[in-house]
Amino acid sequence: MSLNVPSHASQFLRSRIANVCVAIAGATSAEMIEKATVAVKETPFLEFRLDYLEKPLLALPRFKQFFADNTAATAIATCRCTANGGKFAGSLAAELEVLAKCASVGFHMVDLELESAEAMKKADLQKLRDTGIGLLISHHDFTGTHDLDGIFTRIEAFHPDFIKVVPTAKSLIDNLTLIHFLERMNDNSNLIGICMGDAGIISRVLGVRAGSAFTFAAATVGEETGPGQIAARTLLETYRIDQVDAATKVYGVAGNPIRSSLSPIMMNTAFRRETVNAVYLALQTTRLSDLLKLVHDIPIQGVSVTMPLKQEILSHLERTDPLSARIGACNTVLRAQDGKLYGFNTDVAGITGPLEKRMPLAGARVLVLGAGGAARAAVFGLREKDANVFILNRTAETAQKLARQSGSKTIRHEALAKTSFDAIVNATPVGMAGNKAAPLLEAKDLNTKLVFDLVYNPLETPLIHLARQLSIPFITGVEMFVHQGARQFEIWTGKPAPEEEMFRVVLHALRQQAELAAFDAAEAAESKPEAKQKPSTKSVAKPAVKPKAEPKAETKPKPAAKSPAKAAAKPKPEAKPKPAVKKTAAKAKK
Ligand code: NAP
Repeated sequence: MSLNVPSHASQFLRSRIANVCVAIAGATSAEMIEKATVAVKETPFLEFRLDYLEKPLLALPRFKQFFADNTAATAIATCRCTANGGKFAGSLAAELEVLAKCASVGFHMVDLELESAEAMKKADLQKLRDTGIGLLISHHDFTGTHDLDGIFTRIEAFHPDFIKVVPTAKSLIDNLTLIHFLERMNDNSNLIGICMGDAGIISRVLGVRAGSAFTFAAATVGEETGPGQIAARTLLETYRIDQVDAATKVYGVAGNPIRSSLSPIMMNTAFRRETVNAVYLALQTTRLSDLLKLVHDIPIQGVSVTMPLKQEILSHLERTDPLSARIGACNTVLRAQDGKLYGFNTDVAGITGPLEKRMPLAGARVLVLGAGGAARAAVFGLREKDANVFILNRTAETAQKLARQSGSKTIRHEALAKTSFDAIVNATPVGMAGNKAAPLLEAKDLNTKLVFDLVYNPLETPLIHLARQLSIPFITGVEMFVHQGARQFEIWTGKPAPEEEMFRVVLHALRQQAELAAFDAAEAAESKPEAKQKPSTKSVAKPAVKPKAEPKAETKPKPAAKSPAKAAAKPKPEAKPKPAVKKTAAKAKK
């Protein structure tokens, strides 16, 4: 809690900076300037990673024109050496030479590592200061979150304009350590704190609220310069970092893995659409105790619980609805005003809701494939609606146990060809992107009026493809995903969920993922010499790769009532990832 009176230079810099600084990396100065020219239109605060350039000193004059053309831009120059997680292989003297020249080409600030500052002669550091450029001194800890106060004190000894402390979150709790540190230092307006790593995403969104002067973002998805970094547009439009304040309620999705979860884009869109002052974060953890501590300390008002915590959390809840207790899993936690936790299972509604829109469930004959968590939600939900349920599972004993618990029947695979159903529900991961298992059903097994595949990535699973070929109506897993999310939104906010909007952004995000995956596959194929000959590969590699046609669900969720105010609040979809921009392979840490 040092009393930090900012210098005039610091105050001037603070008046220019924004909440988000976009890190620009590239193999050449031309590439960096091209990216910066795009980024600066939305976010005028940039960091140029000069250490990505082969010869940064020679490249520097090229940045002069960029600053002349973009006078609103405020820019940090970073030339981090390899020992400190950067890519600059030169000596300390060479690093200093690069940084010292930055003022003359128009940079406003340099980022100097604490280790370099400590190794430098005082006179050399003074020479850098004499150029008039702002000084940010940073420390990156790649091993974890340790002694933040000690690092702060070491940096503060140099009286820089900005102090940047960047540990790595090895657990959710490390975010709490950083946030409490930022709050303790809240009279220091020139402090920046971020946790690296996938578990540190919370700190990138809530850090500014806790007192960080700003945070860092990637220019686009795939151009991260540090682990866990979020694209600028995601930070600004999905997480609405500019609007996160003390009154913002925090929600999140907990589980592992979680980084590629579509829940944040879906729920943040819903909050934005319904003008709820709330933010929804990805909480990567396998440790329930960490999650519970976070829920208590931040506090977090509601959690979407995913694998592997759905069962384990039950014993920590004040009360659960009777169906969740029978299923033995909870996917939705609500934190009441008194801090007590209540559990619900909206997966059930995510399955029975879309089915009920198409058919009465009482007396319907439904085959459920699988006997895991999703299958249990399907079976108990369907039984609650008086459907006749048949269970087929790879492990017969699990199917038998579930059938006994729920009053259902089991069925053998051989019997399918001779048995007709009103609906078949796939509640196994077979068909999911990356799952190599052979399809569970053939055409002769699909004696059904409807197919519901709970898997939603890819949009068109092999089972949906087969149903389409056989002209059998189908429901995709996206509808379940959106429906269960909509129920969560309603439990947390008491407002009707903007289901149509949620559906739209999830589809859009899935299409983007498919485009990026197609591009990566094409790029990998192109890197093989023999594949370069294939014209088909070349055409796939173009940015306008078309994903597979999005399957049309039989019925779309009911449109939400649109008021003019809501229409105005309509969020822009995420920027299309630029397949033309290669993923930065090296991860110099931020
Ligand atoms: P889970 O608890 O791990 O259960 C998986 C089930 O699938 C088990 O019954 C397992 O059989 C069976 N299975 C796994 N691999 C198989 C294979 N190669 N062949 C045949 N059966 C196999 O998983 P879950 O939580 O129930 O999720 C299942 C799937 O549902 C997920 O992969 C996801 O795609 C989908 N899901 C979708 C949503 C949504 O919102 N749309 C929500 C939740 C889940 P054994 O008993 O023999 O291991």
